Amino acid sequence: MSMISTSLSGPKSATSYCAPEFSGLRRLCPNNNTNNSHSPSFLRFTSPRKPLRRVLAMAGTGQNGTKESITKLISDLNSAKMESDVDVVVAPPFIYIDQVKSSLTDRIEISAQNSWVSKGGAFTGEISVEQLKDIGCKWVILGHSERRHVIGEDNQFIGKKAGYALSQGVGVIACIGELLEEREAGKTFDVCYQQLKAYADAVPSWDNIVIAYEPVWAIGTGVVATPAQAQEVHVAVRDWLKNNVSAEVASKTRIIYGGSVNGGNCAELAKQKDIDGFLVGGASLKGPEFATIVNSVTSKKVAA
Ligand code: PEP
Repeated sequence: MSMISTSLSGPKSATSYCAPEFSGLRRLCPNNNTNNSHSPSFLRFTSPRKPLRRVLAMAGTGQNGTKESITKLISDLNSAKMESDVDVVVAPPFIYIDQVKSSLTDRIEISAQNSWVSKGGAFTGEISVEQLKDIGCKWVILGHSERRHVIGEDNQFIGKKAGYALSQGVGVIACIGELLEEREAGKTFDVCYQQLKAYADAVPSWDNIVIAYEPVWAIGTGVVATPAQAQEVHVAVRDWLKNNVSAEVASKTRIIYGGSVNGGNCAELAKQKDIDGFLVGGASLKGPEFATIVNSVTSKKVAA
């Protein structure tokens, strides 16, 4: 199963834009108009104590799980104490969605891990957005690194999938992220921007999209991005949204981090201004640990 969780996030500081102390992954400031003397407009009308974005925690379990292990996980999640201001989503494998939907508390929403690119029909082996809606899925994860790099889905195909899911009222967890060699070649931002552009070109609106930044080198490896590495990319993504979509979308869109998040490293990551929650794989298979991660995403609220 996979889960998403997000928590409340305070307003961003203007100095997080194009911060010079960051590691130089960005070759250029994405917009020359954006600099430290220019406060993003949303800062001017937002109270510093009022959270802009609800945080979200999501569990995505890939192909893991059996009827028996999922029954135990559901029972652990049903009895876990989860902060009320965190949106929690689980993304079980398709074949277990019905089981999860019928026995999991309504407080947790259900996501699929993939969907077909257009209206359902004669596409053997695929699952349509209409079917996902029929069994109660509110979300779908698209553009996961395994879809991109194992199955071979490209940016445009993923963008089209996102556009179709949104057109049917299903929210999209839009994954982006660079390979290790792309990071080492200084291409992290370029890769993420291209992936974002493909979504932007295809979606009717950003109202129902959560962006999941998942560096491929961190997924399932036990090598988590440092809080500074993750924050650096999250700021760049928000900056890209501001420059290419709108300041409002940039301030409202939740950007969650995924890649070897666990009960021990979540709190420090969650304190970063632009990390609005997590997409969790391996650690979401253990209910109590996932609950710890869910509750960690409120740490900025406490700090506010
Ligand atoms: C994932 O599968 O998207 C993921 C983030 O996995 P993990 O948490 O195990 O790295």
